[in-house]
Amino acid sequence: MSQTLSQQDPAVAAAIDAELNRQASDVELIASENYVSGPVLEALGSALTNKYAEGLPGRRYYGGCEHVDTVERLARDRAKQLFGSYGANVQPHSGASANAAVYLAALKPGDTILGLDLSHGGHLTHGSPVNMSGKTYNATFYGLDPQTGRIDLDRVRDLAREHRPRMIVTGASAYARTWDWGGFRSIADEVGALLFADIAHVAGLVVTGHHPSPIGLCDYVSTTTHKTLRGPRGGLVMGTQGTMKGLNSAVFPGCQGGPLMHVIAAKAVAFAEALRPEFAAYSAQVLTNAQAMASQLLERGFSLVSDGTDNHLMLLDLSESELSGKDAEEALSRVGITTNKNTVPGERRSPFVTSGLRLGTPAMTTRGMTREDSRRVADWIADTLNGSTDEAVLARVRGEVADWCRDHPIPVNHIDWSA
Ligand SMILES: *Cc1c(COP(=O)(O)O)cnc(C)c1O
Repeated sequence: MSQTLSQQDPAVAAAIDAELNRQASDVELIASENYVSGPVLEALGSALTNKYAEGLPGRRYYGGCEHVDTVERLARDRAKQLFGSYGANVQPHSGASANAAVYLAALKPGDTILGLDLSHGGHLTHGSPVNMSGKTYNATFYGLDPQTGRIDLDRVRDLAREHRPRMIVTGASAYARTWDWGGFRSIADEVGALLFADIAHVAGLVVTGHHPSPIGLCDYVSTTTHKTLRGPRGGLVMGTQGTMKGLNSAVFPGCQGGPLMHVIAAKAVAFAEALRPEFAAYSAQVLTNAQAMASQLLERGFSLVSDGTDNHLMLLDLSESELSGKDAEEALSRVGITTNKNTVPGERRSPFVTSGLRLGTPAMTTRGMTREDSRRVADWIADTLNGSTDEAVLARVRGEVADWCRDHPIPVNHIDWSA
């Protein structure tokens, strides 16, 4: 007789159930998270996890790959269509693995890279000393202009002339403004650098035309598939006619062993979803909601880094507040709103405390959040942070959050395939 997970392993099953319940009953504002569709989950939980398939479709090191070849070709072709790229490799296990492959393909140990400072919104894999990228390469950094909270390309040009990087790294985890890849390209050309765009955060906006695309301007493009793109946890790298071959060997055998074929199947499903008009409408709503949330927070007297947002996220600036980023994250968590503390440019508190709070709209938009709801969420945040010691305020907000979540279950289908 076959046993279900809850019969065979009640401890793991109960923890999964509890997590599902948490996801359903909290307002999720972590800018890098989303809710995948039922079909994406189904592909993820499939028997494809049993298969070894080192190599690329048609050129594998193992037998029995005919069906996973079909799956990987579908994922790769859909990725190329979605982004309009010359080539794509869908095997990176994560965004960090995708970036490792780009560096391995393009650089030699000790080469200089120039990326956005971690404390200004960059990512660990862009040269942080605690990451392989910072240990292997000579990492230098640009930051945000302290006055405007934006990247100042003149300053980037000065730094590029000074450091002569082999590669300029663009993209961020907590930057609310548009990337000017044309501007970076001209700087890279002037100093003879390669240009790399890590669009892990904005990929979903890029493929729907809500953020400029780096394809055609950058030598390498990487992304995660699980943030605004709303696919399974994973990575993707894209290259040009000149860089794609080296990128493929950097992924395997350079950085990874066997690809996760069940995840690649789920990527294929998610890319097909992202090619649909419903996904374009979803992305537009993500932006509308971020605008509404940002303007209501400003109206309620809060400060935002760069005073607003062009994309799916914003950074609450608490450097003048008695409440730290950590305090704010904890207060909001008590009312059922999940966020993450974040450093701000010119950070004066420790990275474990911080003076910022990152807020994003992708997950809640998947759950049906409207412009009006977004203003309400901003009010919940403002009421909670202003009244963080007032139990009556906290109880009221907690109740309203719970009501909203009950009325907006996590959807199973994101696309109407009958249309
Ligand atoms: C999230 C992110 C990554 C890393 O993705 P993982 O899948 O967590 O490894 C890399 N770069 C940027 C800019 C990111 O935001």
